[in-house]
Amino acid sequence: MTKSYVTTPIYYVNAAPHLGHAHTTVMCDILIRNRKANGVETRFSTGCDEHGQKNQESAEKLGLPVDEYLDLRSAEFKKAFDLLNVDYDYFVRTSRPFHKERVAQMEQSMMDAGLIIKKEYSGIYCKGCEQFKTDSDLNEDGQCLDHSNLFVEEITEANYFFPMEPFRQRLLDHIAENPDFVQPQKFLTELKNMLKDPLEDLCISRPKSRVSLGVELPFDSDYVTYVWFDALINYLTNLGWPDNNYQDYWAEVEHVIGKDILKTHGVYWPIILMGMGETLPKKLSVHGHWLGSGGVKMSKSLGNVVDPLVVVEKFGADALRYYLARHMRAENDSQISVELIQTAYNGELGNKVGNLLSRAAKFASDRLDGKVPSKGALTAEDEAARAAAMKAALGFANVFKLAEISSRTEALIMAADDLNTYFTEQAPWKLLKDPETEARGQTVLYVTLDSLRVLLEAFRQIIPVSADKALAILDCPIEEGTVWVPKLDRLQSGAQFGEVIPLFPRIAD
Ligand SMILES: [Zn+2]
Repeated sequence: MTKSYVTTPIYYVNAAPHLGHAHTTVMCDILIRNRKANGVETRFSTGCDEHGQKNQESAEKLGLPVDEYLDLRSAEFKKAFDLLNVDYDYFVRTSRPFHKERVAQMEQSMMDAGLIIKKEYSGIYCKGCEQFKTDSDLNEDGQCLDHSNLFVEEITEANYFFPMEPFRQRLLDHIAENPDFVQPQKFLTELKNMLKDPLEDLCISRPKSRVSLGVELPFDSDYVTYVWFDALINYLTNLGWPDNNYQDYWAEVEHVIGKDILKTHGVYWPIILMGMGETLPKKLSVHGHWLGSGGVKMSKSLGNVVDPLVVVEKFGADALRYYLARHMRAENDSQISVELIQTAYNGELGNKVGNLLSRAAKFASDRLDGKVPSKGALTAEDEAARAAAMKAALGFANVFKLAEISSRTEALIMAADDLNTYFTEQAPWKLLKDPETEARGQTVLYVTLDSLRVLLEAFRQIIPVSADKALAILDCPIEEGTVWVPKLDRLQSGAQFGEVIPLFPRIAD
């Protein structure tokens, strides 16, 4: 891999940013940091989907003019991602003229190619999904599976449609030829199931009488574009499609999505791209959802909603980034609560990483005039501690997949735990007191700090701000933009420690 283009979905701005938005976006940021560290040239896009009925209704509810509402919400999302130290290249807003022009251009060319038809249609419509529903999308009571609190309506109206069935076999062939197209495996199986039966025509328009917030169809001013049909194309417009050399990065695109939008990204989007004559995305990386405490869906009434910005304010961005990275299981839903985040922050980041650094650095600083200790002959225990740190760090010295983030992060924290055991067993504080063993004490301190440094360099991909602070204390900063290779003994004996500040100060209830 020499180039990589990672995208988050663009988020609906009908409410404030929530944990699901934070999760997908932080995971993409971790993938990007990992790739950059490994010498890959990257592009990273995120942003907001500002069209559709729900956004329109949210503006009305707040009594704000639509433009003002969209500015306000988009700014909230941008601020949230900035607070989470997400290093994106593009922040998409679909209300921008550039995006709208490109959508209209795409639609006109598909119309010209005979791929879009107009017809009268009667169907069950869910306002929540802004989609017509088939029987299999509804529960026994005839309600939408995702919006059982809303009533579905029977609607008859003329609309524009994109027939998808002619492309179904080609998509199945593509999946067969590219077994990595959807990861992890569980979601590939789900996608194949979605493609078992003939596909219905995709309704790509909404009459303006019902929805006004959208891209007007270039061939019929009574309609706006169905929100997904307009949103998905942002993945191309970000790269300057169709004018610039978008192909370089487009060939390496990876869409990161939650499992709830597998159908739009795994069925609609590839088929739209086939209709446009474009190459299909290289990869869809799918993650599960976070459940609130008790292992149930978060809801205001249960009081188990985790607000990412409240967590950031209380524990810092890295506490949330760490929890999301470490505790999301690859294929399944996972549990999160403020208490669980606090336990991981205090018990894992605080006790295993922060405390070890401050204890070891403080010994060195108190006994050795703030100088980095010297390393003498190494024992088998020293070598083992060093090798364990290197092994965990090496998991970050190659390009990993979305589903691997959690296990690689776990390996780092386990290695930090082992290093704590080594430190306690070797008890350098005793060795340093006796002139006869003082040199050995220095060696133990050196091995501890240098091995921890190796782990911290890897941790930069997960918790960049804290890791950089720690490396500054060790006087071993990493130069931005260089390809990272984990190496032992980069800690310079005799160098001066920076001020030892607590990295993860303990936060009580
Ligand atoms: Zn629905």
